[in-house]
Amino acid sequence: MFLDKVDIFIKAGNGGNGIVSFRREKYIPYGGPDGGNGGNGGSVIFVADNNTSTLIDFKYRKHFRAGNGESGGPNNCTGKSGNDLIIKVPCGTIIREKSTGAIISDMFNEGDIVTALYGGKGGRGNACFKTAQRKAPSFCQTGEKVPEIEVTLELKTIADIGLIGFPNVGKSTLLSVITAATPKIANYHFTTLAPNLGVIKLYDESFVIADIPGLIEGASQGAGLGHNFLRHIERVRLLVHIIDISGSENRNPIDDYNIINDELKSYSEVLKNLPQIVVANKCDLVSDQGVFDNFEKATGKKLHRISAITNSGIEDLLIAVYKEAIKLEKPQPLEYEPFALPEKDNESFEIIKEDEETFAVIGGLIDNLVRNVVLSDYQSFNYFQKVLKDRGVIKALYNAGAKNGDTVRIEDIEFELMD
Ligand code: GDP
Ligand code: MG
Repeated sequence: MFLDKVDIFIKAGNGGNGIVSFRREKYIPYGGPDGGNGGNGGSVIFVADNNTSTLIDFKYRKHFRAGNGESGGPNNCTGKSGNDLIIKVPCGTIIREKSTGAIISDMFNEGDIVTALYGGKGGRGNACFKTAQRKAPSFCQTGEKVPEIEVTLELKTIADIGLIGFPNVGKSTLLSVITAATPKIANYHFTTLAPNLGVIKLYDESFVIADIPGLIEGASQGAGLGHNFLRHIERVRLLVHIIDISGSENRNPIDDYNIINDELKSYSEVLKNLPQIVVANKCDLVSDQGVFDNFEKATGKKLHRISAITNSGIEDLLIAVYKEAIKLEKPQPLEYEPFALPEKDNESFEIIKEDEETFAVIGGLIDNLVRNVVLSDYQSFNYFQKVLKDRGVIKALYNAGAKNGDTVRIEDIEFELMD
């Protein structure tokens, strides 16, 4: 069986830090600022690739991270950008943000490419902050940090043709026979992609066939493995319904046919309305020819008679499948509102009273501010204090019960509250 649903973590690279540096030249005691910008972080990019047909690669490796941007250098050198991370997924993989279930992309066609996460921007070096008044800025900006997110990869096999029927009616045998046979009449070729998935080339067309095992009564309610596999045929456009016409397992072929169709109906309208080729397998075991007539009368469906074991009727069946399949419209990708990470809120803050005399300030405003200042630097610290006042943080601290002399903690720095 192949893995068809898996959760992984992805993270774009953080931006590299800008740096503080001053030019040093012979005979010039105080050169100007020349601290370079940090490099941008790499992005996380998904690519749909036909050379892979399962999500097995994601079973053991769970964390996928693009490269971080490097810090800037002296001499106005911009730091190296982080490497993008390219993740290949099989065609038919739907990528969702896990917590919301929102679709990031439907990787439908070979070569489809989507940037799921963009790298953080590099911070600016002190050379960028030079102005007429501030000739020697002693601060810089740190790189933008970007979050990790959890995504769900779900492979909805884009099979054109779904092979359905009760267990043991001969679906796997039929697939293996098609794979191994040397065609006599029709020119066809079958390549197995996974145990229950293959591509058949018929004349100049190729179709993906999926064997949907375990389709039993109650599948649409999740009985057995049914529900998992029904997911694979949601996109199928033609069903080949295999019946054990011999009733070799003490079942009634007409009941089997009706039960499976009821399951399809309760799973979805789409499945119910798909064209269906009905195949009577195990004809080698039938002695009473009346069973074919009875079946066709009771269901109103024409039977294609085959025996997967003796290899009879296979090529005629394939030709019939081909004639139906070429009439089908091409499958379409899902329609969806692409997922976007929530915008960062750079304005909000929150005050947390840690004890009688200690107050912490957290939130988007603080994250952003801390990025922009080097707090050990005097110029920066003044700027920092001013922003806290302008944005109402100081006032909010007093409102929260803080008094002059109390400790205010912002990330890893502490200072005393004063008017
Ligand atoms: P699946 O569960 O639908 O995939 O069924 P399998 O392909 O595994 O077949 C179930 C059993 O039926 C196996 O023992 C096969 O050998 C047998 N079988 C499949 N096709 C035929 C057939 O045409 N004639 C006979 N006599 N047995 C068959
Ligand atoms: Mg099987």
